[in-house]
Amino acid sequence: MSDLFALVRDVPDFPRPGILFKDLTPLFRDPGAFRALVVALAEPYRDARVDAVLGVEARGFILGAAVALHLGAGFVPARKPGKLPAKCDREGYSLEYGTDALELHLGSFGPGDRVLIIDDVIATGGTARAAVTLARRQHADLVGAAFAVELDFLRGRDLLPPDLAVTSLLHV
Ligand code: AMP
Repeated sequence: MSDLFALVRDVPDFPRPGILFKDLTPLFRDPGAFRALVVALAEPYRDARVDAVLGVEARGFILGAAVALHLGAGFVPARKPGKLPAKCDREGYSLEYGTDALELHLGSFGPGDRVLIIDDVIATGGTARAAVTLARRQHADLVGAAFAVELDFLRGRDLLPPDLAVTSLLHV
């Protein structure tokens, strides 16, 4: 796993001064590392009977779709406002670098749907919490939230419901 994360590139002062951006694109470029990351993200949920992965725009799409295929699950995108074409629900949140909102198509989930949230990085936790809120408003049964990288010092997991399984592969 440490070899894997040697491929994460730290980009200082992106997108704002003072933010150390964890850039996973070099890891995605490496076939073996990309596959190992996807398998490791999916592994804790292998027997969780996941119906759908909810991937958060934008790098959560890359990982989420691959994890969904690995688990034999479907994929649902949570997108930035104005990107999804059909009727949506919306939830706002604060970011490490600003504020934003996520949208989810209405009718994406129903009662009993077992859903796994995937994103590349959990920082302050606001994005993941918005995804949780959107999924639960549609009565999804959340089996967990999985991240490649968790920025421990921002305590993002404290924003997530205590009953939600949260798994991160690299803690920095
Ligand atoms: P947050 O809502 O603060 O947990 O931010 C998480 C979202 O913002 C994820 O979709 C990440 O891709 C992105 N993000 C926030 N901070 C960083 C960071 N330092 N490096 C890379 N991505 C980040």
